[in-house]
Amino acid sequence: MARYIGPVCKLCRREGDKLFLKGDRCSSSKCAINKKSLPPGQHGISRKKMSEYGLQLRAKQKTKRIYGILEKQFRNYFKKANKNSGSTGEVLLSLLEHRLDNVIYRMGFARSRREARQVVRHNHVKVNNKKNNIPSCIIKIGDIIEIKEQIQRFKDILSSTEARIVPDWLDVDRENLKGKVVSNVRREQIDSLINETLIIELYSK
Ligand code: SF4
Repeated sequence: MARYIGPVCKLCRREGDKLFLKGDRCSSSKCAINKKSLPPGQHGISRKKMSEYGLQLRAKQKTKRIYGILEKQFRNYFKKANKNSGSTGEVLLSLLEHRLDNVIYRMGFARSRREARQVVRHNHVKVNNKKNNIPSCIIKIGDIIEIKEQIQRFKDILSSTEARIVPDWLDVDRENLKGKVVSNVRREQIDSLINETLIIELYSK
């Protein structure tokens, strides 16, 4: 699956918000948003008042960037959510949150979603005792996630993510690098940076 490989701080500057794409650096004084919050490029000097369409587009782009997903896959999530009988916005966010790479990140086994994706791709993860290297795999209630090897890399990651609050839809055993999904994620447990209503409006045109 294709992914964005350009400079990530530029994406935060474009959205005018910290999207936490770089792990430890995002909480440090080195964060590019702290130094320079204007959009990148020669036309980034001012932030013009945005049209309704502009706001909807930015809401979608921001969410895609937070989860590291490209357009086609994001639209597929929307279609899936739209077919579901629940609230489209909430189902969309739930699908994004239940991706394996996001679950690894939320459990504190990676400093960023980008790193989580790499951890999965590099075969460090088992789901229900079976190897799983698909970052987009949707993790269900009761699934058990495990990091295969207790290597130094994960000790470093755990010390970086020590202070992170694990949401209560996940149960994590940090010592054994294991965790379980105990319930579905609820809207209030997801970043308030995301405005799913604007995304639905955009795709419903
Ligand atoms: Fe965004 Fe993190 Fe870069 Fe700051 S350091 S601009 S939050 S990716």
